[in-house]
Amino acid sequence: MPNNQAEELKKKLFKNKENGWNEVDENIREEIFSYAKGYIEYLNNSKTEREIIKSSKKIAEENGFKNIENMESLHAGDKVYYINREKSMYLAIIGNENIENGLNIIGAHADSPRLDLKPNPLYEDSGLAFLKTHYYGGIKKYQWTTIPLAIHGVIVKSNGEKVEVRIGEDEEDPIFTITDLLPHLAQDQMDKKLRNAIDGENLNLLVGSIPYGKDVAEAVKLNILNILNEKYGITEIDFTSSELELVPAMKCRSMGFDNSMVAGYGQDDKICVYASLTALMEIQNPLKTSVCIISDKEEIGSMGNTGMESHVFDTFISEILNKMGINRPNLLEKVFCNSKMLSADVDAALDPIYASVSEKNNAAQFGGGIGLNKYTGARGKSGASDANAEFVAEVRNIFEKNNVKYQVSELGKVDVGGGGTIAYILANKGIDVIDCGVPILSMHAPYEVSSKFDLYSAYKGYIAFWKE
Ligand code: MN
Ligand code: MN
Repeated sequence: MPNNQAEELKKKLFKNKENGWNEVDENIREEIFSYAKGYIEYLNNSKTEREIIKSSKKIAEENGFKNIENMESLHAGDKVYYINREKSMYLAIIGNENIENGLNIIGAHADSPRLDLKPNPLYEDSGLAFLKTHYYGGIKKYQWTTIPLAIHGVIVKSNGEKVEVRIGEDEEDPIFTITDLLPHLAQDQMDKKLRNAIDGENLNLLVGSIPYGKDVAEAVKLNILNILNEKYGITEIDFTSSELELVPAMKCRSMGFDNSMVAGYGQDDKICVYASLTALMEIQNPLKTSVCIISDKEEIGSMGNTGMESHVFDTFISEILNKMGINRPNLLEKVFCNSKMLSADVDAALDPIYASVSEKNNAAQFGGGIGLNKYTGARGKSGASDANAEFVAEVRNIFEKNNVKYQVSELGKVDVGGGGTIAYILANKGIDVIDCGVPILSMHAPYEVSSKFDLYSAYKGYIAFWKE
């Protein structure tokens, strides 16, 4: 058989594995770069779940979304949102079709791995003041030492007054850091396994070194409390009712000589939050009711009243049915059983330096477009929400019709990978769900890397899903 004939046949029968950048013209490339600029700005303004919700509320309101609590009734085309305790948010555009036929949902999460302050964090040792932390989510502890850290969050006084804290982001602000042992004295530490090299109890933030006065016990601690009292009007006990999060004080930046990537903290999963939120802003008068979820607590199991496991999302949909004037017993369950969802969470991109943990044919590639994970479990698909083939076909069809570059992958080798998302929680309600997000390098590190092409593919993919 002549060679060119075999090539023709290949073209017809083989899956297209072309690098996405090769498939876009100059105009689209410009669009990709300008879209990524907006993303970088969004990330720089919002590093915690509370800040993401604040930024997202602003974007939603600028685009005509209204708080559902202020709406008497709802009709096709109406745009509403609900914010749950400043940490999670649901948005919806009422569709033209009978809502009984189901919703089209895209859900991402706003929380990212970080270090939280303990309830009683402040102490002094050897003339230095520290804040004790308890890490949040799955981190490699050694990555969080000797990097600049900022403190973000709220302190709520017993009278209910809330003080917002955001220190370490402005050029004029001080930053903080967690120290590590110098190599000269680290022989024992260097012999430890990486997971044990830094003890969780030693992730203590260095915050001060000037004593308040001579011959005063705990004078450095006193000086810090005095500064905090003057600045925020708080005393030591107020830490117990605070939520203060340590996040990298590094800016999200464009990356690479070719500017093809984004480096920044918290891209898991704020990259999918941004892609889905901005996609929703492009939707007008959809056929199906379009719903966007920004959830919290995904990194620690989605529990609690702001996590996806809470029933607040169900209450939001019930409230829509109430305000449409059509609710009746079991309608909510029926709506869910007919609904479809993209669980928008990041995927692990193939890292050629660590290729041995992935299986190349089934790993997401940078520049390969939005990543679909049919299931997420490892070791016998344990605990996985496995999307039905019929639904995978439907999603493929939407992407193919709309020229959205996509890839279908697994997170790691069969007996290596793992990691869950919110997919199973919604699937348990009877919704057809598939994981569908952006592949990331260095996931859960203080500085994660994404491809601008894949970010843009996610944005376009989410628009296509809602426009169906
Ligand atoms: Mn995630
Ligand atoms: Mn994660």
